[in-house]
Amino acid sequence: MSFSHLGLNPLFSEALASADYAEPTPIQQKAIPAILRGEDVLGIAKTGSGKTAAYVLPILQQLEGTLVSPHREPTVLVLVPTRELADQVTQVLREFAPCLTSRLSCLAVYGGVSINAQMQALRRVDVLVATPGRLLDLIEKNAVRLSCIRTLVLDEADKLLNLGFEAEMNQIFLLLPIQRQNLLFSATLNKDVAKMQRLILKEPQILEMDSVGESIEQIHQWAYSVTEERKGPLLRFIIKSEQLERALVFVSSKKKADNLTSKLRKNDINAKAIHSKMGQQARRDTLEAFKQGRIRVLVATDLLARGIDIDTLTHVINYELPRSPKDYMHRIGRTGRAKALGEAISLVTDEEEPHFYVIQKKMGQRVPMKPSEAIDLSGY
Ligand code: AMP
Repeated sequence: MSFSHLGLNPLFSEALASADYAEPTPIQQKAIPAILRGEDVLGIAKTGSGKTAAYVLPILQQLEGTLVSPHREPTVLVLVPTRELADQVTQVLREFAPCLTSRLSCLAVYGGVSINAQMQALRRVDVLVATPGRLLDLIEKNAVRLSCIRTLVLDEADKLLNLGFEAEMNQIFLLLPIQRQNLLFSATLNKDVAKMQRLILKEPQILEMDSVGESIEQIHQWAYSVTEERKGPLLRFIIKSEQLERALVFVSSKKKADNLTSKLRKNDINAKAIHSKMGQQARRDTLEAFKQGRIRVLVATDLLARGIDIDTLTHVINYELPRSPKDYMHRIGRTGRAKALGEAISLVTDEEEPHFYVIQKKMGQRVPMKPSEAIDLSGY
C-alpha cells in the first residue's frame, strides 16, 4: 500500500521519501482517505503510531489551492494538551507544508512564554496549534478569531480531558463555525473521550488501532530485581556497561530527577533532568540537546511520557515504576517508535513487585525479571 493509493497528492512524494515514510502506517491507511473525503474521524491511536502525519497530510492537501488571500484567519485549529506536543505537531506541519504550491503559515501557541510575541505572530496564520488556556487568552485579547475554522483536531484528547481542559474546550467549541470537519485522536477511549466525541463528532469514522500492542511487540522489555540502595549503582552499571548511547530514565518526582541527575554527573555520565519546574525554554533546549545527542541520559518525570517523539531512542529505563499501567506503556512507547527496535528496562524492588505484576497483567504481557545481586557494583 502506497501513500498515493490513499488519495494523497504526488506533491508530497518527495517529502515522504526524504522523511523515510516508505509506506503508510495502519492509522494513516485508514485516516487519510476518510479525512480527504471530509468525514469526521475518531482515531484511537497512540503516539508512535504515525497519527500526527495521519491528519497533517490530508489537512495540508485540503488546504492546497485555498491559500490565496493575503489577509486570512486560521482555517485549521489543532488543540493539544502540552507545549511539547504543540511543538512536535508544528514540526510535522512545517516538514510537509513546503510541498504545497502556496506558502502556508502555521504557529504553535501555549502558555509559559510571553504572549506578546504570539500576538504578533498571529497576524497571518493558516494552521494554529494551541493549548486551550493560552488560546482563550489570545482570543480575549482579540489576537485571533476562530470564525473561519473549517477543521478542528483534538490531539491526545484523553490527556486534554485528564488535564482538566474540558471547560476551556467547551468555551472554544462555542466560538467555532458549526459547519466544520472534526478529527479526534486519543490513545484511549474512556468515558470522558466518548462523551466528548458524542458532543463534537458527526457520524464519525471510528478507527481503532491495535497500536499499543503492535508497538509494544517491538520493544524488548525486561526488569532487574534490585534493592533500593543498589538502584543508583545498578543504573550507572547499565548505562556504562551496556554503552547506552542515549537513554531516557523515568523517576516519580522532580526532586528525584534532580538528585539522580547530579549523582550521574558525579559519575561522569552526561545527564540532564527535565521536568515541569523548568521554564519552557530550558525544557525545549534540554530536549533538543538530547535529540541531537549532546546529552546522553535524560532523567524525566512523567511529563515526558506522552507525546514526545525522539527518533532513535533505544533505551527507556524505569528507575521507579509509574503509578498507572497506562503510564508504563506510554513511557516504554518512547522507544521502539515506528519500526525501530527499542529496549525498556525496569528496576524493581521487592516492594514494587506486586505493582509491577499489575502493570504486566494490564498490558497482557509478561516481562522477564533478572536477579541483580550477583552483579558486582563496586566502583559504580
Ligand atoms: P507519531 O505517532 O505521529 O508521534 O509518529 C511517530 C513517529 O513515526 C515519528 O517519528 C514519525 O516521523 C514516524 N512516522 C510517521 N509515519 C511514518 C511512516 N509512514 N513511516 C515511517 N515512519 C513514520
